[in-house]
Amino acid sequence: MQVLTILEALLAAAAMQSGDEPPLEESPPAEVAEASVEAPSEESDAFSGGAREGARWFRHLVVKRETVEQLALRYRVKASSLRSWNKLDEDEQPEEGAKLRVFSAITTPPREPVEYTLREGDTWVSISRPFGANPADVRRYNYYRVRRNLDPGEVVVVWSDPLIRDAIARDDPPPGPTAEVRPGGYSYGFPHRGQLVNGVRIPESDAYVLRYPNSSWGSTWAVRATVTALHGFRERSGYGGLVRLGTMSRQRGGDVGGHRSHQSGRDLDVRLPLRAELNQQLKPSKRRVDWLATWRLIDAFLETGTVKVIFFDYRRQKLIYRAAKESGVSEEELDAVLQWPIGRGELDGKVRHSSGHTGHIHVRFTCAPYETECVDL
Ligand SMILES: [Zn+2]
Repeated sequence: MQVLTILEALLAAAAMQSGDEPPLEESPPAEVAEASVEAPSEESDAFSGGAREGARWFRHLVVKRETVEQLALRYRVKASSLRSWNKLDEDEQPEEGAKLRVFSAITTPPREPVEYTLREGDTWVSISRPFGANPADVRRYNYYRVRRNLDPGEVVVVWSDPLIRDAIARDDPPPGPTAEVRPGGYSYGFPHRGQLVNGVRIPESDAYVLRYPNSSWGSTWAVRATVTALHGFRERSGYGGLVRLGTMSRQRGGDVGGHRSHQSGRDLDVRLPLRAELNQQLKPSKRRVDWLATWRLIDAFLETGTVKVIFFDYRRQKLIYRAAKESGVSEEELDAVLQWPIGRGELDGKVRHSSGHTGHIHVRFTCAPYETECVDL
């Protein structure tokens, strides 16, 4: 909800700055106004996040290579609803230039074409990144014209999302470890059915170890939060052991063996910190874990303000609770974060029970305000 509010504010600001007509038509098509097409009911609406409240009909002009599935993410509606509102068959994709009917409260500005003149040494990746475009799409937009040779002086067209492009152009991270993480990596879709576009790798650091470098890729937003949290933890916790990071995502996201989510560059597994005097290669059994350091680690992630949820076994939350309480953390503070001792169904805090999460915490970050096709679940 909060992210959407920021998104809406950005959109309003963008609309005021450009002074242009709103990109989407206000008036519903006549047949829709007559309710021949039913708006989704509260229950049937698969997506949360404000798509329903204040929803209205408008038209979306389909740009090159846009799919129903992509638009469904963008407007937080079901792909099947989009198809039925627009009389598209199952698996049918709209033509470029088609005007699709959409019923949603989310009206993000559409992708825009930008012309780019090729320079010596350009690759599809180097062309796409500054615009926040997907290199695979940019190649497909232009392949028939420029073929394999990217000859300097030739012009290619990049369809890019204005919000992502602006975020890259205005990127100005504070000096320090986050500045090492380049802009432009963004999360697409769901944690359990998604992709990572122009992903960035968690940088090497003294503050932690990457156990799986090939699965240590994430969105700029999530990787910067990770770096901020772990450097903050090292500076403030007094912990002398080793923080070992597990899987985030693969470079382009998608399936990672052995994990249900971790597909869109904003899930991260962190092994529980072991007591500093132990061999740091050992498995994190109950008695080896430094539970106070675990609390401080969770706290460091939460402090970034970009955590959606942290999955961790309910019964083991008790050990965190006890250690933190003994060191003087108040019950109010603990209750605001952990489910223990209230119950594993409790939904107030960020830490949630999930079976199998006993030796590591699983941190899920929010979508960035500019990630228009990222769904926060
Ligand atoms: Zn995980």
